[in-house]
Amino acid sequence: MSILIKECSIIGREGEWDVRIKDGKIDEIGESLDGDDILDGKGKYLSPGFINTHTHAAMTLLRGYADDLPLDKWLNEKIWPLEGKLTAEDVYWGTKLACLDMIKSGTVAFNDMYFFMDSAAQAVEDMGMKATLCYGFLDMGDEDKLEKEKDSTLKFIKDLEGMDNIKPAVGPHSVYTVSQEGLQWCSELSEKMDIPIHIHIAETEKEINDMEGSVVEHLDRMGLLNKRTIAAHCVWLNKAEIDILAKENVVVSHCPVSNMKLGVGKPMDYRSMREAGVFMSLGTDGCASNNNLDMFEEAKIAAILHKMKGDTTLLPAKETYEMMIRDTLHTGGGAVEEGKSADLILIQKGVPDHQPISDIVYTLNGCAVTDTIIDGEVLMRDREVEGEEEILNKASYHANKLVSEMI
Ligand SMILES: [Zn+2]
Repeated sequence: MSILIKECSIIGREGEWDVRIKDGKIDEIGESLDGDDILDGKGKYLSPGFINTHTHAAMTLLRGYADDLPLDKWLNEKIWPLEGKLTAEDVYWGTKLACLDMIKSGTVAFNDMYFFMDSAAQAVEDMGMKATLCYGFLDMGDEDKLEKEKDSTLKFIKDLEGMDNIKPAVGPHSVYTVSQEGLQWCSELSEKMDIPIHIHIAETEKEINDMEGSVVEHLDRMGLLNKRTIAAHCVWLNKAEIDILAKENVVVSHCPVSNMKLGVGKPMDYRSMREAGVFMSLGTDGCASNNNLDMFEEAKIAAILHKMKGDTTLLPAKETYEMMIRDTLHTGGGAVEEGKSADLILIQKGVPDHQPISDIVYTLNGCAVTDTIIDGEVLMRDREVEGEEEILNKASYHANKLVSEMI
């Protein structure tokens, strides 16, 4: 059985095209093609789906629960106490809600760090998405906790065996929550198993001030910076540290909305990142600090944030769009080309549509996505996702239950 997208506009190509999908891949791009299941692409862009490189998916249950607070108070009095009450079932429905949001706004794969990750993995698999998942490793310098975190990490990696579209990563949370021994262990495990590292780096000035010496040099010495690493935030870095990220081929996940909402103090130094040649991607972070997972919003805010200092040529739309679709999670997608994995979205064009990429980055938002295809399966058709009502009801129940336990 094949899927045929009729008469769509492919970003970067003139004219209207038919695209046939077979066995999870883009089979043929041409004119007047045949296929079994027809999707109307007239008046729509066909784009690779978006890759969100930093999330805590189940935190979708916490959106709107605590906003506009000082960072310390937000974490210590609101987020961490509530997370302490989370159950596996909460994480399952919270992750499903996140997947629903992502499918509806054009994201096909994401890089997630949280707890109860076997439940998160089950939710991702049930929704049909692609993801790289890691257990959030936080030993807080406690030896007993260190052993528990090692066990939880190894158990979770084993749990993922046999899940084709979900890959494991190792998730040392940050330099301020993981001991030197813990960081070293994560580094060795990543190398031995050849799996990615997902870590927060230099999100706040406090993180930098509390550290003796450079955070980046410390992580580099531990062997945690390499081509397998995805580093979220990277705001409080100097040029020498940015050069290390470039030299080690680290992928940076730029999370401008979360950084602005949590008041981290300044924007990431995008110009230096660009000049050094760092691999850049976009992340929404968790919904407690965003409060949605819409990559259109993330892209627009990134693109306009860096122009604020007076250089309107910095982070142009094309570069921003590349950050939205770059296949940093190695899903096999990332382009509308024959042979690529069929992780595709149809987007209703704006009017007028002078420049498709400008339309996507500056004009439209997630509601413009009409159809989402992941691994050759149509997960959203004309904005309808199977099981949506149940997800909304169950997630709402779990979110309200959690918050009521805090009163
Ligand atoms: Zn984060």
